[in-house]
This record gives sequence, C-alpha cells and structure tokens, in this order.
Amino acid sequence: MKKKDKQFAVIGLGRFGSSLARTLFKSGYEVLAVDFDEELVQKFSEEVTHVVQADTTDENTLRALGIRNFDVVVVAIGADIQANILTTLLLKELGVDFIVAKANSELHGKMLEKIGADRVIYPERDMGVRVAHNLMSNNVLDYIELSPSLSLVEVTAPQDLVGLSLAEANLRASCGINVVAIKRGDQLILPPLPSENIREDDVLIVVGGKAGVQKMEELE
Ligand code: ATP
Repeated sequence: MKKKDKQFAVIGLGRFGSSLARTLFKSGYEVLAVDFDEELVQKFSEEVTHVVQADTTDENTLRALGIRNFDVVVVAIGADIQANILTTLLLKELGVDFIVAKANSELHGKMLEKIGADRVIYPERDMGVRVAHNLMSNNVLDYIELSPSLSLVEVTAPQDLVGLSLAEANLRASCGINVVAIKRGDQLILPPLPSENIREDDVLIVVGGKAGVQKMEELE
C-alpha cells in the first residue's frame, strides 16, 4: 500500500483530534472525522474528506460507518473517559487493524493498552516534556521520546564542541549518546564519520538515554 493510500478515521474533534485530522488531510490522506457534537461537525465539513455526526459508543453506529475498513482509527475523545474506553473496546471487537487512543493519565493509558489499543498517546504529557526540554536548554530544537529510556534530540552544536571532530568530542563516552546525523545548512550528513568536525551552527541529531541527553543539554 502506498503511504498516501492509508485511510484514517479520527473520533473526537477536540483540540487534539481536530488538529490531527486537519494535518493528516492537508498531508494528502483520506480522513473521516466523527464527533457527536452537531455544531462541530458542521464547522468541520470543509476540512476533511468526510465528517459524520455520531456517538461512537454505539456498536451499530460504528458498523454503519464501516469503521473496520480504515487502516488507522484514532480515539481522541478526551474528558469522557468512559466513552473513550468504550469506543476503543468496540473498535477492537470490530477488528480494526490499528487503534490509536488518547490517554489522560498513566492509569488510563494502561487500561487502553489492556483492552487492545495498538498505540497510546499522551498529548498533554508529551507536549509538556517537549516544551520543558526546549525551555531548559537554549540549544535544544526538538525532543522526541522514543521510549521511556531513549530520546532523540535535535540540538545546536554546543560551543564547547565546535572545532572538535566527533571522535574528539567523544559524546558516547562522556554522555552515552550517539550522534546519528548532522544538519549543516541544507546538507544532511548521515551518518557522520568520526573524523567529521563539528562546526558553528551545526545541528546535531543525537540519540541517547535521559541522563546523557541532559548532560549534553548542559554543555555551553
Ligand atoms: P482536547 O484536549 O484535545 O481539546 P478534550 O480532552 O477536551 O480534548 P473532549 O472535548 O472531551 O476532549 O472530547 C473531544 C471530542 O470528542 C468532543 O468534541 C466531543 O464532542 C467528542 N466526543 C465525546 N464523546 C463522544 C462520543 N461518544 N462519540 C463521538 N464523539 C464524542
């Protein structure tokens, strides 16, 4: 299947769901958006491929939507945890291939995993973590948590390292992190050789554990 042939359904058009649905649609994907709020549905009619007013805690409604035929279904219902969980459960029972569900807390997330969500996202927490890292360091441009113990960070080359080769900087030994790529203007050096010199304004893309990344953020 070509990437753009993937069909998405997004249930719940709160801030997170609506921004996700718009982004997917603008990127060229087919998107069905579902919400039980009539007004929201009206507002959304031009923004995605289809938008339907429905209560997704009803199994027959979900069947009628043909929800099973979507490659990815995102449950972005927020405040109503019961509706969020019930919808996820029904999607699983109906045999949806890949279910992404939004969780409000760790406990809620665990529950979603137990009932079969393929991916659980914590938009508030994830956003908070990113913003915190951006604020803590002037150098950090982007921060993605790959797993609880591993992060991918984009960081402007700290002054202390400018002029050193990657081998001399030896971030693996000092911080336990690996430089996987260097962005230099329009150029992407992937993978960089150990002999590559770090220049002023280089952006380093590094992968490492939390402690190591933090250590690197503290470099000037
Ligand atoms: P965000 O933080 O992303 O704005 P939120 O946590 O405030 O989201 P809500 O506004 O509670 O989330 O829910 C998102 C949307 O889900 C709402 O527009 C609501 O109408 C819709 N929704 C809630 N329950 C159902 C349901 N059973 N079926 C369909 N849509 C629902």
